[in-house]
This record gives sequence, C-alpha cells and structure tokens, in this order.
Amino acid sequence: MYDVAVIGAGPAGLICARNAARRDLSVALVDRHDRPGVKLSMAGGGRGNFTNRTLSEEHYVTDDPSLVRAVLRAFPCEWTLDLLRSLRLPFEERDFGQIFGLRPAAFLADRLAVQCDDAGVDFYLGCTASSFSLPSGAPAFGRDREEAGFTFFAGQEKVTARRLVLAAGSSAWPASGASDAMARLAAAWGHEVVPFSAVLVPFVMPGDWPLAGLEGISVNVRVAIRRDGTTFRPDPAGIRSLLFTHRGVSGPAALVASCRWRAGDELILDFLPELPVLELLDEKEHGRLLARNLLSRFMPARLADALCPEDLARKKCAEMGKKDRLRLAAAVHEFSCRPSGTEGLKKAEAAAGGVKLSSLSRRLESRKVPGLYFCGEIVNVAGLLGGYNIHWALASGALVASAMTGTPADERKNRRQLLSSGSSFPLHCR
Ligand SMILES: Cc1cc2nc3c(=O)[nH]c(=O)nc-3n(C[C@H](O)[C@H](O)[C@H](O)COP(=O)(O)OP(=O)(O)OC[C@H]3O[C@@H](n4cnc5c(N)ncnc54)[C@H](O)[C@@H]3O)c2cc1C
Repeated sequence: MYDVAVIGAGPAGLICARNAARRDLSVALVDRHDRPGVKLSMAGGGRGNFTNRTLSEEHYVTDDPSLVRAVLRAFPCEWTLDLLRSLRLPFEERDFGQIFGLRPAAFLADRLAVQCDDAGVDFYLGCTASSFSLPSGAPAFGRDREEAGFTFFAGQEKVTARRLVLAAGSSAWPASGASDAMARLAAAWGHEVVPFSAVLVPFVMPGDWPLAGLEGISVNVRVAIRRDGTTFRPDPAGIRSLLFTHRGVSGPAALVASCRWRAGDELILDFLPELPVLELLDEKEHGRLLARNLLSRFMPARLADALCPEDLARKKCAEMGKKDRLRLAAAVHEFSCRPSGTEGLKKAEAAAGGVKLSSLSRRLESRKVPGLYFCGEIVNVAGLLGGYNIHWALASGALVASAMTGTPADERKNRRQLLSSGSSFPLHCR
C-alpha cells in the first residue's frame, strides 16, 4: 500500500511525486512511456519555454480564473525560476517575458526524475495504468478509507495507494502517446469534464481563402476575433508574428488566437498594426506611389498584391479619394476571414477542457472522491503561448503535493529546503 500513486510522469506528476516523497510519503509514479517527460521534451522546439514573467489568470482559459489566480500567487514565475536554478538548468528571457531553458527541455524531466529517485519514488515506467477501482465500501473520510485504498494495474502489476493523483495530461498531440482515457475515468467517477479541444494549433482556411499561395511568409499582425457581432482581442500581448502555411495560418499570433477561437468565429487581421495606412497615404513623399507599391514598402510584395483591392492597385496614392483610402485601410487593418477549422488535436500543443475546477477543491482534491487529486493539463486550465502550460503543470503538481502533506504556505516556506538537488541515474524501475 503506497501513500500516493501518481499517474503520469510529465512535469505535473514528476514534481508532485518528488515533493510528496521528500515529505516522507511512499510514492509510486506510473507512466506508459519508458522514460519520463516525453511531451515535455518536445516543448519550445526542444528547449522548453518553462514559464513567463507576465503570469496572470488572463493568460489561461479555464472555468475558474480566481482559483488559477490563487495558484499563480502561491507559485509565481520566480518559484519556477528557483526550481530551474536548483536543478542547474540555465535559462534566458526572450520576447513577451518568455523564459526558455538553455539546455534540451528533456533535461528538466531527467533532473526531476533523478530527484524523485533520490527521494525514494518507485517508478513504474513503460506501464499503462488501467482497471482502476475506488476504495471500496469506505466512508468518505476517516481511517477506514485510508485502509481501503485505490487499486489499479500498472502493466501487469497490481498497485494499491491511499491517495491517487491523476497527472495524465490531455489528448493533444497524440503522437506523444497522449489520450483522454484518464479524463474519461474522471467523468465516470462523477466529475464534470469538458471534452478536450485543440488549442495552440494552426488554423485551416477554406478553399477560396484569398491569401492562399503565400506559404512561408511571416509578418507581424494584431489579431481580433469577431463573434456574433462583438469583437475582442484574444492576446493580451498584442502584436505577434503570423506564418502563412499551405493550409492556412500558424505562428504565435495564430496559435494564441486558437485558444479563444470557436467554430464559426471570424478572425480580423491587422497587417500593419503600428503604421496606420491613412497616415501613410497622407505623406507627401508617397503621393506618386501606386497603392500596391506603397504597401510593399512595409510588407512582403506578394502579401501587398493579395491585400490591395484590384481596382486600387494601379492607382497613385495622391489620386485616391476618401472612399478608396478607407477601403485600402480596411483591407490592411481589418482583413476578415473565417477559418474552416483548425489542424485539430493531432497538431495541437495543448488542449482546452478536462476536469472542471468546479469539481475540485481549492487544493485540487476531488469533491466527489476523497483522496483523489488532479494536476497539470488534465485539469480544465489551458495556457496561452509563452510557457504558461508548463508553469501550470509544475505549480499545480506542487500544490497537490503540499495539499497531501501541508499547506501552500508551508510549500513556500520550505521551498529552499525542498529544491536542493543532487543524484544519479538509473532510476529504481519496477
Ligand atoms: C510540441 C509541443 C510543444 C510544447 N511546447 C510548450 C512550451 O514551450 N511551453 C509550455 O508551457 N508548454 C508547451 N507545451 C505543452 C506542455 O508540454 C504540456 O502542457 C505539459 O507537458 C503538460 O504537463 P502534464 O504533466 O500535465 O502532462 P504531460 O506532459 O502530457 O504528461 C502526462 C503523462 O501521463 C502519461 N499517461 C497518461 N495516461 C496514462 C496511463 N493511463 N498510464 C500511464 N501513463 C499515462 C503520459 O504518457 C504522459 O507522459 C508543448 C506541447 C507540445 C505537444
């Protein structure tokens, strides 16, 4: 009988297992892969964008922003930076407050796994957890429940534990082995679960998309979303780059927009977010230029050709009347398109949906099944682009460990002591 069984050795499960074991709980950590952190090792193009200086609940799509805010206050960006320092993982800050590692992202998983090992965690790697049962016939809380325990199979082996942590991620990017099986288990156990949907994913445009054929071009844009006549900005950071692909658009601007986009919404793209076209037209030196040539001074010529209304392309700026000027400005600053969809979970870096926070306590324990906890991407908290998802996974994993053993305040107090490092592979695999 373990004190805790953690399903999933991603960032959420690893830190949860490590912290729980360091507080003298016996811990089993199960993952279907034969190494920890498979998805984590793909993060940030292999370097890992681990957290962000601009963390706030605004950067998450969730059913309970106030709980996300509370978790981020208890585990702020500096907490993750301390973790990276303690693991001797150097990092750098890039645009938009993004913190990237300077070693392969897999290093984070490896170091946490080594520390789990040092703390006495039993690894069940290469083992899919299945055939779960709840502590049988036990009252909600109290000694009897403690004696009963959750049971499941890790591969062929039967495991029993007093507490169960589902840190099994979402079904985004299934090539990494991701699935929604554990979210379905949570639903079967009475939790409210929002079906996973793709976020941080490229858009696919319909066949008649007027900007087809521009693949490979990348420009800075500001994106808005129009839904039922109301327009809103999906991205607190504002201007980011957009990449034309052979099926639609990708790049940071599109990936962030995908987090707030719903089928049927229009995207409104501003291709010159910092240069008002009306002011450019007013400049004397531009009067003799053709409208199309004016635009191509500030953006790739092929994009200028595609954006400029055909009847205006060969007009000189000085010859354009008010109506024409407004049409040109609208074509550049309010280019509207309706994606036919996204590339879906297959190409999504994360998923919205999962176990709703309303089904969980403030410390991520189930309100339905005492002793059952959730952390990481399986919870209905999806971060925008910028390191927010790994930060959430680490913060929520640490929160669950402290919920099982102490308070978030204890977690902060003990941080320095908890983050001391040192150790060696191989892991004690079962
Ligand atoms: C290509 C790509 C790039 C990304 N880049 C970034 C980035 O730079 N910054 C960022 O913040 N986020 C990034 N993300 C998202 C980030 O990787 C995830 O949000 C994060 O890994 C989620 O952590 P987690 O611990 O909740 O789940 P995961 O990392 O998905 O780990 C869950 C683990 O549970 C295991 N598991 C599931 N079910 C079972 C079962 N039944 N039995 C045994 N094991 C099971 C899985 O094998 C998996 O290893 C990226 C994602 C992708 C796909």
